[in-house]
Amino acid sequence: MDNFEELRQQMIDRQLAARGIHDQTVLNALGTVPREAFIPTDLIEFAYKDSPLPIEENQTISQPFIVALMTAALELKSDDRVLEVGTGSGYAAAVLGEICETVYTIERHKALADTAQIKLKELGYTNVQVKHGDGTLGWVDHAPFDAIIVAAGGPEAPQALKEQLAIGGRMVIPVGASLNSQKLVRIRRINENEYETEDLGGVRFVPLIGVAGWQEKNNES
Ligand code: SAM
Repeated sequence: MDNFEELRQQMIDRQLAARGIHDQTVLNALGTVPREAFIPTDLIEFAYKDSPLPIEENQTISQPFIVALMTAALELKSDDRVLEVGTGSGYAAAVLGEICETVYTIERHKALADTAQIKLKELGYTNVQVKHGDGTLGWVDHAPFDAIIVAAGGPEAPQALKEQLAIGGRMVIPVGASLNSQKLVRIRRINENEYETEDLGGVRFVPLIGVAGWQEKNNES
């Protein structure tokens, strides 16, 4: 299929702009990143489908609308330092890399972290650094972050991530007591000790598994 550009534009118009995503910087970023490059080859025809898609390790690449919604909620400026937890395919990291000069992303599955790193490099996203590890602990060497995006649902916002937010920084994260549904929240750091939390609506994400997330079980990965 060679009409990916057309499909990408349809995605922008029908899935994003029509549903209230009006941040032009975010629309431009999703209009630039080739989503088809981050999809398993046997699913490439669905690259611009309005849904998440399966990737390796029983994980998912998020629905474009959710990537746009969460990215817009971060209120990014080009010189913001951004941390993503849950690299997955690397797609959202590329979107962030289109907007910001410095992006760090952490993935707990080594195979996914390795593939995403190669893919991002191939596509020229040299401003995105990928690490294999537990993102619930953050990336202290590069903190503080102006924005943190967590692409997996945890019981609550990890304390380490809250502490690694700059004053005035924003974190967007799905939280909730259920593994099947969460609410998306934006947490803004007001000062050293105070945070303000806003509810952005209901979502459904794969679990955030780690020291400050859910515990790994045999039937989960
Ligand atoms: N942003 C991704 C993309 O654009 O393809 C989608 C991410 S997928 C919905 C969530 C990812 O979070 C999975 O790849 C999962 O392995 C990862 N994950 C879950 N818990 C994690 C943790 N504690 N640290 C890092 N990654 C984690």
